[in-house]
Amino acid sequence: MKKHQALRTPVQRGRAGWNAILGDLPPPQHLEENEIADFVVVGAGFAGLAAARRLSQLAPGARIAILEAGRVAEGAAGRNSGFMIDLPHNLPGSEEMAARGERELISLNRQAQDFAEAAVEEYGIDPNFFDRAGKINGAGDSAGHAANEREKAHLDDIDEPSELLDAGQMTEVTGSDYYRSGLYTPGTVMLQPAGFIRGMASGLVCAGVNLFEESPATGFARQDGSWIVSTPKAAVQAGKVILAVNGHLESFGFARGRLMHLFLFGAMTPELSPDQLRQTRGQDRWGITPADHMGATVRRIDRGLGGNRILIRATAALRSGMVSRKSDLARAAHGMQARFDARFPSLAGMSFEHVWAGHACLSRNGVAVMREIDDGVFSACVQNGLGAARGTLTGMGAAELACGQDSAITKRFTAEEEPARLPPQPFREIGINAVLRWREWMARKA
Ligand SMILES: Cc1cc2nc3c(=O)[nH]c(=O)nc-3n(C[C@H](O)[C@H](O)[C@H](O)COP(=O)(O)OP(=O)(O)OC[C@H]3O[C@@H](n4cnc5c(N)ncnc54)[C@H](O)[C@@H]3O)c2cc1C
Repeated sequence: MKKHQALRTPVQRGRAGWNAILGDLPPPQHLEENEIADFVVVGAGFAGLAAARRLSQLAPGARIAILEAGRVAEGAAGRNSGFMIDLPHNLPGSEEMAARGERELISLNRQAQDFAEAAVEEYGIDPNFFDRAGKINGAGDSAGHAANEREKAHLDDIDEPSELLDAGQMTEVTGSDYYRSGLYTPGTVMLQPAGFIRGMASGLVCAGVNLFEESPATGFARQDGSWIVSTPKAAVQAGKVILAVNGHLESFGFARGRLMHLFLFGAMTPELSPDQLRQTRGQDRWGITPADHMGATVRRIDRGLGGNRILIRATAALRSGMVSRKSDLARAAHGMQARFDARFPSLAGMSFEHVWAGHACLSRNGVAVMREIDDGVFSACVQNGLGAARGTLTGMGAAELACGQDSAITKRFTAEEEPARLPPQPFREIGINAVLRWREWMARKA
């Protein structure tokens, strides 16, 4: 009998701030008894929920079960910075072939945004949680400013709108004098990620999808033409399985030695007092990604998203065992505090209310794993740090493959090569972490 055993299941460090500020969820439904379904989706992040929604569109009336190891929105999907970005992170030069590939990806990312927006409307998700506000690439020094100018030139080349903001305009938006310049692009959707993920999950449940939380899949085995997906208490039998488990794909034995398990860190202030709000000035809602990717992402949110607060994301650590360390979180908290203090001197020293780590999975050659990986088993994994859009796409694509449908999404991702092999341990972790530290230091002002 063919079997795929999960070597480990997710461990989260720190409470996801975005989820915490929305209050408690109703008690979860656990998988207590054996179930039969047509499709089992493992993982309730961007990819798993998009897969379940796409399945419900393509196979109306099908029995769909979702197994989630933890609570909805406590995984990476509720721990990220909430930028659902249409533009690829690394825009290439203007060579025609590269530009064509990028245009296709931009168009697919926008398809993911539209798919998510349709869900927001259909499921009655709070529109504050899905805001087509665009984002700014902030530059804190001349290197960042030069990077913004280069990116503006690339965007002009491929006819994508953008606007360079000077230091004064950046102060008007952020209330901070920190930024030397910014590059505004209008196509990013700003999510309240936990609110969006919660809304997707409850919309799917209302539409008849069976969601089992705190029910980790511990393995799956082939039996009489179906798959039996086991959890600690019971199992689901189904013809098709979609693995939407991010880096935990490797826990099931797939893409071994090829996935980079990168932990990213986020922090959120408490609700700002009226006095502190007066000191911070600036607009009520904005989002800044760093001109250098190793710099800090910063967001200001307002009551509509869960409170008047400032969020920051900075630093990274590679942990091949898929668990971040306490010391990683402590180091990240220290680094985020320094970056926060530099941007908001009037609030310097203010303690964060929430600090957390989250698992992002990358491949060295930037590919996802979205294909049939065993008979009737489909992967929607490895989003390369841009899981809000790409996770949605790989989830949609895996559902389409599971229903025997071809689309621009399935064509794009099934044509990708395998993730490139990584150096063996311990060189991988030591080497990559050393590079990360160096690049973080170089980007300390970004
Ligand atoms: C601090 C931080 C900031 C980030 N900022 C951004 C951003 O602004 N924009 C962006 O696009 N991306 C961002 N990311 C990355 C983004 O969060 C991920 O790429 C995205 O969540 C991946 O989506 P996913 O659905 O593939 O995986 P996940 O969101 O990780 O969902 C996978 C789910 O599978 C579950 N699971 C795993 N194993 C099992 C099992 N055995 N059984 C059952 N369930 C299982 C997990 O609990 C999890 O809920 C950020 C990440 C972090 C940590």
